[in-house]
Amino acid sequence: MSIRYDQRFGFQQEIREKGVGLVFILSAPSGAGKTTLVKEVMEQLPGLRFSVSFTTRLPRPNEKEGEDYHFVSHSTFQRMVEKNAFLEWAEVLGNRYGTPRPDLEKLKQEGVDLILDIDTQGAKSVLKQMSQSVLIYLLPPSLKILRERLMKRGLDSLESIKFRLSNARRDIEEASTYHYVILNDRMEVATEKLRSIIIAERCRWSKDSIIEENKKLWEDKDG
Ligand code: 5GP
Repeated sequence: MSIRYDQRFGFQQEIREKGVGLVFILSAPSGAGKTTLVKEVMEQLPGLRFSVSFTTRLPRPNEKEGEDYHFVSHSTFQRMVEKNAFLEWAEVLGNRYGTPRPDLEKLKQEGVDLILDIDTQGAKSVLKQMSQSVLIYLLPPSLKILRERLMKRGLDSLESIKFRLSNARRDIEEASTYHYVILNDRMEVATEKLRSIIIAERCRWSKDSIIEENKKLWEDKDG
């Protein structure tokens, strides 16, 4: 349980939310603002953990080993594939990315939900293996804005930006197969939407255990 200041009501509010062992998959074209959104929601909502993928891509200047990704060589990645260490893995824009297998039972016991930041191929594969996964697509307001954001962050070459944009066009067509789509027009609104989805899904997937835990209370009451 954590206490926080509620801006709307202006008083300290108790937040009893905790994770129930769910997997939330967030996909978006690069530059849609996924990383900022995930960080913001994780600060606001207890019981969320980011699943750190393995990649053969080189780290960008602002990225930290073990936080953003585990950066590994091609041979290490290949060994992990052969050992069946990944829940899914894919080649994205010429690099390989893999999601380590989560222990869902352990997460549930710890009161934690997992957030996976993976592409549309990975999302489909995880949903097949874990039907409780919740798929959320973050849609940038327009390709023009996406281009501007990619240019402004200055992390990719012009060629890589062109490649990312042509992939984004194809990728966005997958959005309708997701459970939820969030338009990332204003970050505060997108954050509130993601937070609400997580809370609602926690209620939905934990309804049986809530009923079970509270049966005793009802039996004790008169009438
Ligand atoms: P970036 O290089 O911009 O960090 O990521 C490129 C793409 O790879 C993004 O769409 C991101 O969601 C995706 N990605 C990151 N980790 C994984 C993973 O473990 N599996 C899959 N399938 N995609 C991933």
